[in-house]
Amino acid sequence: CGIVGYVGSDKSVEVLLGGLKRLEYRGYDSAGIAVIGPDGALEMRKKAGKLQMLVDDLEARPLVDGSTGIGHTRWATHGGPTDENAHPHLSDGGKLALIHNGIIENFSELKAELVAEGVEFSSETDSEVAAHLVAREYRAVGDLTEALRLVVNRLEGAFTLLVVHADQPGVVVGARRNSPLVIGLGDGENFLGSDVAAFVAFTQRAMAIGQDEIVTITADAVTVIDFHGTPVEATEFEVTWDA
Ligand code: GLU
Repeated sequence: CGIVGYVGSDKSVEVLLGGLKRLEYRGYDSAGIAVIGPDGALEMRKKAGKLQMLVDDLEARPLVDGSTGIGHTRWATHGGPTDENAHPHLSDGGKLALIHNGIIENFSELKAELVAEGVEFSSETDSEVAAHLVAREYRAVGDLTEALRLVVNRLEGAFTLLVVHADQPGVVVGARRNSPLVIGLGDGENFLGSDVAAFVAFTQRAMAIGQDEIVTITADAVTVIDFHGTPVEATEFEVTWDA
């Protein structure tokens, strides 16, 4: 339901939780974050219930903060509101994390394909197929943007997806079809959000992402391509309301 992504300085947990807090107005039943720490390890926490449940869990079991991360509030469509069904979903032995807003209409045939290959699922969501598909493509092509591009061309329905991989720290890749995603431009940091509320406390410079487009952010760069891989010129706009 709500999505936030961040690459910048070592305060991703604070940025992600702040962004999710400002997206709470949309309603949700679970929340989670994944962060790549300075040691290059990906860590994830997720909880059914209010954002405060996640905050309490993070207080009890802090994770090593880093400069790259993604956060999600879920409004369940496939699978009940449980800890396991909350996002992010992990793959590649816990090195890849993915969050999803929307519905992947053809998830059951994709799931059958993955199960036949021996992939084990840990949730009942439609979303988890995307995590395992991106992991499979990443192993083949070694680039997270290209891996996500190959996968979105196989998905039907509505999706905003964000993905991070421990082997490519400092990068968040996102894609959208029939579901919103906006870029926030910072100084030595960049943001992604399902709406500008996710990052307006940090920057008022934003860029729209068009239908069927993929965005890759690092701390200093933003690149947008379409689902065919053709570069897209995204235009900047100013967010005219305050946090
Ligand atoms: N369909 C996904 C799920 O049920 C994502 C729901 C959402 O947009 O939050 O987990």
